[in-house]
Amino acid sequence: MADDAFSCRMCGHCCQGQGGILLTDKDLLRLAAHLGLEPAEVLARYAETRDGKVGVKCGPDGCCVFYKDGCGVHPGRPDVCRAWPFFRGNLVDESSWRLIQDYCPGVNPDVPFADFVRQGRRYLQENELEREDQGSAPNALLKVDGGDET
Ligand code: SF4
Ligand code: SF4
Repeated sequence: MADDAFSCRMCGHCCQGQGGILLTDKDLLRLAAHLGLEPAEVLARYAETRDGKVGVKCGPDGCCVFYKDGCGVHPGRPDVCRAWPFFRGNLVDESSWRLIQDYCPGVNPDVPFADFVRQGRRYLQENELEREDQGSAPNALLKVDGGDET
């Protein structure tokens, strides 16, 4: 079966909201390489710390500072951007999956939840987007051992 549970419509909804785009060390190095800047300069220009976590700043419009009619750093975007909508909560809770259909038009409501989960898990594995342990990566990401299923 084709991977039809999700196809991004480029609406930009997931690029809105304060503080949601966390930057891990891996993300920072990739973003810095993409921008041709030193990591410290990326942090100084584009990042802020909230509740002890480093994330991408938002602009006055409430969108991620990199959003300009689409992602302005797409090849260098952080893991949480790569993983959406296959976040842990949406993979373990069918009601969350239903709720995000109002927010993310890329999620296909006609594809059963079980297929969304199966396709999402495979996508995360193939793109190395599972987190190695609880403390070092955004909680939104599924654990690498699949131990988030409750
Ligand atoms: S909300 Fe969904 S469809 Fe819109 S840009 Fe984000 S991933 Fe794509
Ligand atoms: S880095 Fe790109 S994909 Fe991620 S929130 Fe910002 S504009 Fe959107």
